[in-house]
Amino acid sequence: MTFLAKKIEKLKEDGVYRELPVNYGPCDNKINLNGKEVVNLSSNNYLGLANHPRVKQAAIDAVNKYGAGAGAVRTIVGNQDIIGKLEDLLAEFKHEEAVMCFQSGLNCNIGTIQAIVDKGDLIISDELNHASIIDGVRLSKADKAVFKHSDMEQLELILKEKRSSYNQVLIITDGVFSMDGDLAKLPKIVELAEQYNALTYVDDAHGSGVLGLGGRGTVDHFHLHGRVDFIIGTLSKAIGVVGGYVASKQVTKTWLSHRARPLLFSTALPPAATAASIESVKILMESTEYSDRLWSNANYFKEKLSKLGFDTGHSETPITPVMIGNEAKTMQFSKALLEAGVYVSGIVFPTVALGKGRLRCMISASHTIEDLDFAIEQFEKVGKKLQII
Ligand SMILES: *Cc1c(COP(=O)(O)O)cnc(C)c1O
Repeated sequence: MTFLAKKIEKLKEDGVYRELPVNYGPCDNKINLNGKEVVNLSSNNYLGLANHPRVKQAAIDAVNKYGAGAGAVRTIVGNQDIIGKLEDLLAEFKHEEAVMCFQSGLNCNIGTIQAIVDKGDLIISDELNHASIIDGVRLSKADKAVFKHSDMEQLELILKEKRSSYNQVLIITDGVFSMDGDLAKLPKIVELAEQYNALTYVDDAHGSGVLGLGGRGTVDHFHLHGRVDFIIGTLSKAIGVVGGYVASKQVTKTWLSHRARPLLFSTALPPAATAASIESVKILMESTEYSDRLWSNANYFKEKLSKLGFDTGHSETPITPVMIGNEAKTMQFSKALLEAGVYVSGIVFPTVALGKGRLRCMISASHTIEDLDFAIEQFEKVGKKLQII
């Protein structure tokens, strides 16, 4: 195993080696990170549902009724009835005909993309799409083309040049781009897809539960219901549990049940996760209380940071990047904040471009105004000390 040890040595030489931080309790507004209580500005638990009493109780009840594990893949005997209930509820929530659930958002992408396009088809993908989309595209036998981030002219050029040489053309984009918090230019993408007879695939992992009426997602936000062919969502972020899904037509669901490899070759969602997700979606359908609080928290936080003189980028969502630039300075900022009691992960190259280092603040409905004020105070202190503001 010395070949791996050597690679790890190289990580250390390059200054990119790290240990995994340990959270000693639930994911919430404050967490016990490595034994110290800190304000948590780094989770995807947008609505605070990961530690919600109703969601936890649903998981406990499901374990008592259905056990700890599904026991098999869905095509054998792992298809417990609650999975179907979750799918029907999600379809109703998303205003789509049918939903197919997977064990995670990553599984959904790697299973769905290769199942729906084949040799003789073309995938056109935004350069900033999520890693699980990139992996899904790699597993597909279709040809691939990549367009510059949100560059609609280049997308159209690719369609113009290549459309006639392929059977199906599938345009794939994130709904919300996770590092900057900007939205895909979905109305234009849909318009081009309709003009050139292409299919559309939107991964709305960061949009579900956040954008649109009561968190119905990016498609709802842009009033594009019925015009996007495949809408991917995750149960791991705003829903607060784990799992992924594709919302589409019934034919998609039927086809995936025969060809999506994570469904055929990996055990179904555990009952606790399925039931907890059902409860979370029910909470979202009952009121917009959580998504309203998420947005008011995010707006409050962003406004205060900008007033202090921080550059918060061009986010259109609760994802709040604080642009620092230099990689070492970004990591130094993150470390100083942690010492001051606020955990915000520093994001640097290669996750983002060189010189575009940032602190990525993830605001949640679970944050109190006191949490946010405390975090802002620490940002001000550290920002002044490091001469960022
Ligand atoms: C987080 C994320 C995923 C993965 O979701 P999991 O359910 O955590 O596997 C997929 N796509 C995008 C765009 C994401 O942001």
